[in-house]
Amino acid sequence: MTIDSYAPAASDLVGLYQDLHAHPELSFQEIRTAGIVAGHLRTLGYETTTGVGRTGVVGIMRNGEGPAALLRADMDGLPVAEQTGLAYASEARGVDSDGHEVPVMHACGHDMHVSCLIGACRALAENRHTWSGTLMVVFQPAEEIWAGARAMVDDGLFERFGRPDIVLGQHVVPFPAGLLALHPGIATAAADNVKITMFGKGGHGGLPETSIDPVVMAAATVMRLQTVVSREVAGVDTAVVTVGVMRAGTKANIIPDQAELLLSVRTVDDGVRTRVLDAITRIARAEAAASGATEDPQVQLMERFPAVHNDEAASARTRAAFTALLGEGKVIDPGLIPVSEDVGLLPTASGAPCVFWLLGGADPTAFAAATSAGDLGNIARGLPVNHSPLYAPVIEPTLSVGIAALVTAAQTWLPPTT
Ligand SMILES: [Zn+2]
Ligand SMILES: [Zn+2]
Repeated sequence: MTIDSYAPAASDLVGLYQDLHAHPELSFQEIRTAGIVAGHLRTLGYETTTGVGRTGVVGIMRNGEGPAALLRADMDGLPVAEQTGLAYASEARGVDSDGHEVPVMHACGHDMHVSCLIGACRALAENRHTWSGTLMVVFQPAEEIWAGARAMVDDGLFERFGRPDIVLGQHVVPFPAGLLALHPGIATAAADNVKITMFGKGGHGGLPETSIDPVVMAAATVMRLQTVVSREVAGVDTAVVTVGVMRAGTKANIIPDQAELLLSVRTVDDGVRTRVLDAITRIARAEAAASGATEDPQVQLMERFPAVHNDEAASARTRAAFTALLGEGKVIDPGLIPVSEDVGLLPTASGAPCVFWLLGGADPTAFAAATSAGDLGNIARGLPVNHSPLYAPVIEPTLSVGIAALVTAAQTWLPPTT
Protein backbone atom coordinates (compact mmCIF):
# COMPACT_ATOMS: atom_id res chain seq x y z
CA MET A 1 0.00 0.00 0.00
CA THR A 2 1.20 3.52 -0.68
CA ILE A 3 1.03 6.26 1.89
CA ASP A 4 -1.93 7.89 0.06
CA SER A 5 -4.03 4.78 0.55
CA TYR A 6 -4.08 5.45 4.31
CA ALA A 7 -5.60 8.93 4.04
CA PRO A 8 -9.28 7.82 3.85
CA ALA A 9 -8.87 5.51 6.85
CA ALA A 10 -7.17 8.30 8.75
CA SER A 11 -9.81 10.91 7.91
CA ASP A 12 -12.42 8.73 9.67
CA LEU A 13 -10.23 8.69 12.74
CA VAL A 14 -9.82 12.45 13.12
CA GLY A 15 -13.04 12.57 15.18
CA LEU A 16 -11.81 9.71 17.35
CA TYR A 17 -8.47 11.45 17.92
CA GLN A 18 -10.14 14.75 18.84
CA ASP A 19 -12.53 12.95 21.19
CA LEU A 20 -9.66 11.13 22.93
CA HIS A 21 -7.71 14.39 23.14
CA ALA A 22 -10.65 16.15 24.78
CA HIS A 23 -11.15 13.30 27.28
CA PRO A 24 -7.74 12.32 28.64
CA GLU A 25 -7.52 10.00 31.65
CA LEU A 26 -4.77 9.60 34.24
CA SER A 27 -2.62 6.48 34.56
CA PHE A 28 -4.62 3.34 35.47
CA GLN A 29 -7.85 5.34 35.08
CA GLU A 30 -8.16 4.80 31.31
CA ILE A 31 -11.69 3.35 31.65
CA ARG A 32 -13.39 5.40 28.95
CA THR A 33 -10.43 5.10 26.57
CA ALA A 34 -10.21 1.33 27.08
CA GLY A 35 -13.95 1.03 26.44
CA ILE A 36 -13.65 2.90 23.14
CA VAL A 37 -10.65 0.78 22.13
CA ALA A 38 -12.40 -2.49 23.01
CA GLY A 39 -15.52 -1.42 21.08
CA HIS A 40 -13.47 -0.82 17.93
CA LEU A 41 -11.53 -4.08 18.28
CA ARG A 42 -14.71 -6.15 18.73
CA THR A 43 -16.38 -4.51 15.73
CA LEU A 44 -13.29 -5.30 13.65
CA GLY A 45 -13.37 -8.97 14.67
CA TYR A 46 -10.46 -9.09 17.13
CA GLU A 47 -10.63 -11.47 20.10
CA THR A 48 -10.75 -8.72 22.71
CA THR A 49 -9.86 -8.88 26.39
CA THR A 50 -10.17 -5.91 28.73
CA GLY A 51 -8.83 -5.41 32.24
CA VAL A 52 -5.38 -6.82 31.47
CA GLY A 53 -2.99 -5.15 33.94
CA ARG A 54 -5.97 -3.22 35.39
CA THR A 55 -7.08 -1.07 32.43
CA GLY A 56 -5.13 -2.58 29.52
CA VAL A 57 -6.78 -4.05 26.41
CA VAL A 58 -5.46 -6.90 24.25
CA GLY A 59 -6.75 -7.76 20.77
CA ILE A 60 -5.81 -10.91 18.88
CA MET A 61 -6.41 -11.62 15.21
CA ARG A 62 -5.34 -15.01 13.86
CA ASN A 63 -4.86 -15.09 10.14
CA GLY A 64 -3.33 -18.41 9.18
CA GLU A 65 0.18 -19.74 9.55
CA GLY A 66 3.07 -17.52 10.44
CA PRO A 67 4.78 -15.60 13.21
CA ALA A 68 3.15 -13.32 15.77
CA ALA A 69 3.70 -9.56 15.85
CA LEU A 70 2.85 -7.38 18.85
CA LEU A 71 1.81 -3.78 18.14
CA ARG A 72 1.70 -1.57 21.20
CA ALA A 73 0.14 1.81 22.05
CA ASP A 74 -0.10 3.53 25.44
CA MET A 75 -3.30 5.27 26.55
CA ASP A 76 -2.75 7.55 29.57
CA GLY A 77 -2.71 11.33 29.91
CA LEU A 78 -0.78 13.57 32.31
CA PRO A 79 -1.63 15.92 35.20
CA VAL A 80 -1.06 19.03 33.05
CA ALA A 81 -3.43 21.96 32.37
CA GLU A 82 -3.74 22.22 28.59
CA GLN A 83 -2.90 25.62 27.06
CA THR A 84 -2.92 24.77 23.36
CA GLY A 85 -6.07 26.79 22.65
CA LEU A 86 -7.25 24.04 20.29
CA ALA A 87 -11.00 23.68 19.68
CA TYR A 88 -10.74 20.15 21.08
CA ALA A 89 -8.46 21.06 24.02
CA SER A 90 -9.01 19.19 27.26
CA GLU A 91 -10.77 20.75 30.22
CA ALA A 92 -10.73 17.44 32.07
CA ARG A 93 -9.85 17.08 35.72
CA GLY A 94 -9.00 13.94 37.61
CA VAL A 95 -7.89 12.68 41.00
CA ASP A 96 -4.32 11.45 41.16
CA SER A 97 -3.06 8.50 43.18
CA ASP A 98 -2.33 10.82 46.15
CA GLY A 99 -5.98 11.95 46.19
CA HIS A 100 -5.27 15.42 44.75
CA GLU A 101 -7.56 16.92 42.14
CA VAL A 102 -5.49 17.77 39.06
CA PRO A 103 -6.02 18.93 35.48
CA VAL A 104 -5.56 16.20 32.87
CA MET A 105 -4.16 16.54 29.36
CA HIS A 106 -2.90 14.28 26.60
CA ALA A 107 0.39 16.18 26.75
CA CYS A 108 2.48 13.24 25.55
CA GLY A 109 0.45 12.31 22.46
CA HIS A 110 -0.78 8.93 23.68
CA ASP A 111 -4.16 9.84 22.13
CA MET A 112 -2.34 9.86 18.78
CA HIS A 113 -0.80 6.46 19.54
CA VAL A 114 -4.24 4.98 20.30
CA SER A 115 -5.80 6.51 17.16
CA CYS A 116 -2.98 5.27 14.93
CA LEU A 117 -3.16 1.75 16.35
CA ILE A 118 -6.95 1.57 15.91
CA GLY A 119 -6.42 2.73 12.31
CA ALA A 120 -3.78 0.04 11.81
CA CYS A 121 -6.05 -2.60 13.39
CA ARG A 122 -8.72 -1.66 10.88
CA ALA A 123 -6.39 -1.60 7.85
CA LEU A 124 -4.97 -5.01 8.79
CA ALA A 125 -8.43 -6.50 9.47
CA GLU A 126 -9.72 -5.26 6.12
CA ASN A 127 -6.65 -6.42 4.19
CA ARG A 128 -6.05 -9.92 5.49
CA HIS A 129 -4.66 -11.05 2.15
CA THR A 130 -1.65 -8.75 2.74
CA TRP A 131 -0.39 -10.66 5.79
CA SER A 132 -0.37 -14.04 7.48
CA GLY A 133 0.18 -15.05 11.09
CA THR A 134 -1.07 -13.64 14.38
CA LEU A 135 -1.54 -10.03 15.24
CA MET A 136 -1.43 -9.15 18.92
CA VAL A 137 -2.41 -5.55 19.67
CA VAL A 138 -1.68 -4.20 23.12
CA PHE A 139 -3.25 -0.97 24.42
CA GLN A 140 -1.24 -0.32 27.54
CA PRO A 141 -2.23 1.75 30.57
CA ALA A 142 -0.04 3.90 32.81
CA GLU A 143 3.06 4.45 30.70
CA GLU A 144 3.62 7.83 32.35
CA ILE A 145 4.14 6.28 35.77
CA TRP A 146 6.14 3.40 34.26
CA ALA A 147 3.79 0.85 35.69
CA GLY A 148 1.48 -0.17 32.85
CA ALA A 149 3.77 -2.51 30.89
CA ARG A 150 4.81 -4.16 34.15
CA ALA A 151 1.16 -4.55 35.21
CA MET A 152 0.24 -6.24 31.91
CA VAL A 153 3.26 -8.57 32.03
CA ASP A 154 2.48 -9.46 35.66
CA ASP A 155 -1.14 -10.13 34.66
CA GLY A 156 0.06 -12.89 32.34
CA LEU A 157 0.20 -10.98 29.04
CA PHE A 158 2.50 -13.52 27.38
CA GLU A 159 1.20 -16.64 29.15
CA ARG A 160 -2.42 -15.85 28.33
CA PHE A 161 -2.05 -14.43 24.82
CA GLY A 162 1.17 -16.03 23.56
CA ARG A 163 4.70 -14.84 22.95
CA PRO A 164 5.25 -12.56 19.96
CA ASP A 165 8.17 -12.87 17.54
CA ILE A 166 8.57 -9.09 17.42
CA VAL A 167 7.48 -6.10 19.53
CA LEU A 168 6.62 -2.98 17.50
CA GLY A 169 5.59 0.48 18.65
CA GLN A 170 5.95 4.20 18.13
CA HIS A 171 5.99 7.54 19.96
CA VAL A 172 5.02 10.92 18.57
CA VAL A 173 7.66 13.67 18.99
CA PRO A 174 8.13 17.25 17.73
CA PHE A 175 9.99 16.23 14.57
CA PRO A 176 8.32 17.28 11.29
CA ALA A 177 5.10 15.37 10.62
CA GLY A 178 5.65 13.04 7.68
CA LEU A 179 8.94 11.81 9.09
CA LEU A 180 9.82 8.62 10.95
CA ALA A 181 12.93 8.32 13.12
CA LEU A 182 14.48 5.01 14.06
CA HIS A 183 17.73 4.43 15.94
CA PRO A 184 19.13 0.88 16.01
CA GLY A 185 20.70 -0.30 19.27
CA ILE A 186 20.05 1.56 22.53
CA ALA A 187 17.32 4.01 21.49
CA THR A 188 16.20 5.53 24.79
CA ALA A 189 17.88 5.91 28.16
CA ALA A 190 17.34 3.84 31.28
CA ALA A 191 15.47 5.78 33.93
CA ASP A 192 15.51 5.88 37.72
CA ASN A 193 13.23 7.91 39.94
CA VAL A 194 14.93 8.90 43.18
CA LYS A 195 13.28 10.33 46.29
CA ILE A 196 15.34 12.35 48.75
CA THR A 197 13.86 13.21 52.14
CA MET A 198 15.89 15.79 54.10
CA PHE A 199 15.41 16.19 57.83
CA GLY A 200 15.80 19.54 59.61
CA LYS A 201 14.31 20.95 62.77
CA GLY A 202 11.08 22.89 62.51
CA GLY A 203 10.56 26.26 64.14
CA HIS A 204 9.27 29.84 63.93
CA GLY A 205 9.93 31.72 60.70
CA GLY A 206 11.02 34.74 62.73
CA LEU A 207 13.54 32.77 64.78
CA PRO A 208 15.55 30.78 62.23
CA GLU A 209 18.45 30.42 64.64
CA THR A 210 16.38 27.95 66.68
CA SER A 211 15.78 25.65 63.75
CA ILE A 212 17.61 23.65 61.10
CA ASP A 213 16.00 24.77 57.87
CA PRO A 214 15.33 21.87 55.44
CA VAL A 215 14.15 24.31 52.74
CA VAL A 216 17.62 25.86 52.48
CA MET A 217 19.14 22.39 52.71
CA ALA A 218 16.99 21.15 49.83
CA ALA A 219 17.60 24.29 47.76
CA ALA A 220 21.38 23.93 48.16
CA THR A 221 21.09 20.26 47.22
CA VAL A 222 19.19 21.11 44.04
CA MET A 223 21.92 23.55 42.98
CA ARG A 224 24.76 21.20 43.82
CA LEU A 225 23.06 18.33 41.96
CA GLN A 226 23.52 20.36 38.78
CA THR A 227 27.23 19.58 38.99
CA VAL A 228 26.75 15.79 38.81
CA VAL A 229 26.35 15.73 35.03
CA SER A 230 28.54 18.76 34.30
CA ARG A 231 31.50 17.80 36.57
CA GLU A 232 31.33 14.06 37.21
CA VAL A 233 30.16 12.53 33.93
CA ALA A 234 32.49 12.41 30.93
CA GLY A 235 31.56 14.49 27.91
CA VAL A 236 31.21 11.34 25.79
CA ASP A 237 28.75 9.70 28.22
CA THR A 238 25.02 10.35 28.47
CA ALA A 239 23.31 11.32 31.73
CA VAL A 240 20.48 13.60 32.83
CA VAL A 241 19.60 14.58 36.41
CA THR A 242 16.35 16.54 36.76
CA VAL A 243 14.69 17.62 40.01
CA GLY A 244 11.00 17.57 39.07
CA VAL A 245 9.49 17.98 42.53
CA MET A 246 10.62 20.03 45.53
CA ARG A 247 8.22 19.93 48.43
CA ALA A 248 8.34 21.48 51.91
CA GLY A 249 6.34 23.54 54.33
CA THR A 250 2.79 24.75 54.77
CA LYS A 251 2.99 28.43 55.73
CA ALA A 252 5.29 31.42 55.18
CA ASN A 253 6.14 31.86 58.86
CA ILE A 254 6.82 28.23 59.75
CA ILE A 255 10.14 26.54 59.16
CA PRO A 256 9.15 22.95 58.35
CA ASP A 257 10.97 19.94 59.71
CA GLN A 258 11.52 18.15 56.44
CA ALA A 259 11.76 18.63 52.68
CA GLU A 260 11.36 16.23 49.81
CA LEU A 261 12.96 16.13 46.36
CA LEU A 262 11.92 13.83 43.52
CA LEU A 263 14.53 13.29 40.83
CA SER A 264 14.47 11.76 37.39
CA VAL A 265 17.80 10.23 36.39
CA ARG A 266 18.53 9.05 32.83
CA THR A 267 21.60 7.07 31.89
CA VAL A 268 22.66 4.58 29.23
CA ASP A 269 25.74 2.88 30.69
CA ASP A 270 25.46 0.91 33.96
CA GLY A 271 28.78 2.26 35.24
CA VAL A 272 27.66 5.85 34.66
CA ARG A 273 24.34 5.05 36.36
CA THR A 274 26.14 3.83 39.50
CA ARG A 275 28.42 6.87 39.52
CA VAL A 276 25.49 9.30 39.16
CA LEU A 277 23.39 7.60 41.86
CA ASP A 278 26.38 7.52 44.23
CA ALA A 279 27.03 11.22 43.60
CA ILE A 280 23.39 12.09 44.35
CA THR A 281 23.57 10.28 47.70
CA ARG A 282 26.92 11.86 48.57
CA ILE A 283 25.71 15.39 47.76
CA ALA A 284 22.44 15.00 49.70
CA ARG A 285 24.37 13.80 52.76
CA ALA A 286 27.00 16.53 52.48
CA GLU A 287 24.43 19.31 52.15
CA ALA A 288 22.56 17.96 55.17
CA ALA A 289 25.82 17.95 57.14
CA ALA A 290 26.63 21.46 55.92
CA SER A 291 23.28 22.64 57.31
CA GLY A 292 23.98 20.99 60.66
CA ALA A 293 21.30 18.32 60.27
CA THR A 294 21.35 15.74 63.02
CA GLU A 295 19.90 13.01 60.83
CA ASP A 296 21.14 11.77 57.45
CA PRO A 297 18.77 12.28 54.54
CA GLN A 298 16.96 9.28 53.15
CA VAL A 299 17.79 8.56 49.52
CA GLN A 300 15.40 6.01 48.04
CA LEU A 301 15.45 4.43 44.59
CA MET A 302 11.85 4.36 43.43
CA GLU A 303 10.75 3.23 39.95
CA ARG A 304 13.37 2.00 37.51
CA PHE A 305 13.14 0.81 33.99
CA PRO A 306 15.63 -0.33 31.43
CA ALA A 307 16.67 1.31 28.19
CA VAL A 308 14.79 0.45 25.01
CA HIS A 309 17.07 -1.70 22.89
CA ASN A 310 16.18 -1.75 19.20
CA ASP A 311 17.36 -5.02 17.69
CA GLU A 312 19.88 -4.13 14.96
CA ALA A 313 18.75 -6.63 12.32
CA ALA A 314 15.05 -6.07 12.99
CA SER A 315 15.58 -2.29 12.84
CA ALA A 316 17.35 -2.51 9.50
CA ARG A 317 14.53 -4.61 8.05
CA THR A 318 11.83 -2.26 9.37
CA ARG A 319 13.72 0.82 8.26
CA ALA A 320 13.98 -0.55 4.70
CA ALA A 321 10.20 -1.04 4.68
CA PHE A 322 9.63 2.51 6.00
CA THR A 323 11.94 3.94 3.34
CA ALA A 324 10.04 2.03 0.63
CA LEU A 325 6.81 3.49 2.03
CA LEU A 326 7.79 7.13 2.55
CA GLY A 327 10.82 7.62 0.32
CA GLU A 328 14.49 8.27 1.00
CA GLY A 329 15.08 11.14 3.41
CA LYS A 330 11.78 10.64 5.26
CA VAL A 331 13.27 8.06 7.62
CA ILE A 332 16.03 9.46 9.80
CA ASP A 333 18.28 8.15 12.55
CA PRO A 334 17.84 10.57 15.49
CA GLY A 335 20.55 8.95 17.60
CA LEU A 336 19.90 8.04 21.19
CA ILE A 337 17.17 10.12 22.87
CA PRO A 338 17.51 10.53 26.67
CA VAL A 339 13.82 10.01 27.37
CA SER A 340 12.54 6.70 28.68
CA GLU A 341 9.71 4.37 27.76
CA ASP A 342 8.41 1.34 29.55
CA VAL A 343 7.80 -0.43 26.21
CA GLY A 344 11.28 -1.88 26.81
CA LEU A 345 9.74 -4.27 29.35
CA LEU A 346 7.72 -6.06 26.66
CA PRO A 347 10.72 -7.38 24.67
CA THR A 348 12.60 -8.07 27.91
CA ALA A 349 9.72 -10.12 29.34
CA SER A 350 8.79 -11.92 26.11
CA GLY A 351 12.28 -12.54 24.76
CA ALA A 352 11.26 -11.04 21.39
CA PRO A 353 13.32 -8.39 19.58
CA CYS A 354 11.96 -4.85 19.60
CA VAL A 355 11.64 -2.05 17.06
CA PHE A 356 10.40 1.23 18.53
CA TRP A 357 10.42 4.32 16.34
CA LEU A 358 9.53 8.00 16.64
CA LEU A 359 6.66 9.53 14.69
CA GLY A 360 7.04 13.14 13.56
CA GLY A 361 4.08 15.22 14.75
CA ALA A 362 5.14 18.87 14.41
CA ASP A 363 3.86 21.24 11.73
CA PRO A 364 6.30 20.63 8.85
CA THR A 365 6.29 24.32 7.84
CA ALA A 366 8.15 25.10 11.08
CA PHE A 367 11.05 23.13 9.64
CA ALA A 368 11.13 24.76 6.21
CA ALA A 369 14.52 26.34 6.92
CA ALA A 370 16.17 23.08 8.04
CA THR A 371 18.82 21.74 5.70
CA SER A 372 20.50 19.17 7.94
CA ALA A 373 19.75 16.77 10.77
CA GLY A 374 21.44 19.27 13.11
CA ASP A 375 19.09 22.06 11.95
CA LEU A 376 16.17 19.74 12.48
CA GLY A 377 17.23 19.08 16.06
CA ASN A 378 17.74 22.78 16.77
CA ILE A 379 14.32 23.74 15.41
CA ALA A 380 12.66 20.84 17.25
CA ARG A 381 14.20 22.12 20.51
CA GLY A 382 12.42 25.45 20.01
CA LEU A 383 8.96 23.83 19.70
CA PRO A 384 6.69 22.72 22.53
CA VAL A 385 7.88 19.30 23.57
CA ASN A 386 6.00 16.29 25.00
CA HIS A 387 4.69 17.01 28.55
CA SER A 388 4.42 20.75 27.82
CA PRO A 389 0.96 22.33 28.28
CA LEU A 390 1.38 23.62 24.70
CA TYR A 391 2.24 20.24 23.14
CA ALA A 392 -0.13 18.86 20.51
CA PRO A 393 0.77 17.15 17.25
CA VAL A 394 -0.74 18.34 13.97
CA ILE A 395 -3.37 15.74 13.11
CA GLU A 396 -2.27 15.27 9.50
CA PRO A 397 -0.04 13.90 8.17
CA THR A 398 0.84 12.51 11.65
CA LEU A 399 -2.19 10.20 11.78
CA SER A 400 -1.82 8.80 8.23
CA VAL A 401 1.90 8.23 8.61
CA GLY A 402 1.46 6.70 12.08
CA ILE A 403 -1.14 4.24 10.77
CA ALA A 404 0.96 3.45 7.70
CA ALA A 405 4.09 2.87 9.80
CA LEU A 406 2.32 0.37 12.08
CA VAL A 407 0.72 -1.48 9.15
CA THR A 408 3.97 -1.56 7.20
CA ALA A 409 5.99 -2.76 10.18
CA ALA A 410 3.41 -5.50 10.91
CA GLN A 411 3.36 -6.63 7.28
CA THR A 412 7.17 -6.77 7.28
CA TRP A 413 7.02 -9.36 10.05
CA LEU A 414 3.88 -11.17 8.90
CA PRO A 415 4.45 -11.77 5.19
CA PRO A 416 1.50 -13.30 3.31
CA THR A 417 1.72 -17.00 2.51
CA THR A 418 1.44 -17.38 -1.24
ZN1 LIG B 1 5.26 11.03 28.41
ZN1 LIG C 1 4.68 9.16 26.14
